[in-house]
Amino acid sequence: MNAQCVSCDSEFEVRTDSYPGEIVGCPGCNAELEILSMTPVELAIAPEPEEDWGE
Ligand SMILES: [Zn+2]
Repeated sequence: MNAQCVSCDSEFEVRTDSYPGEIVGCPGCNAELEILSMTPVELAIAPEPEEDWGE
């Protein structure tokens, strides 16, 4: 099913067995998008992972 990237507005295919909470990558801009819901498909920019694990 088609989804629209909230970052670059391009449409791309999301697997129909995806689930809310899954992170998908936009093929257009490489943004990481979190699936909010599947019917209809709603996407949001995924939060940046905390990579500040320190020393
Ligand atoms: Zn995009």
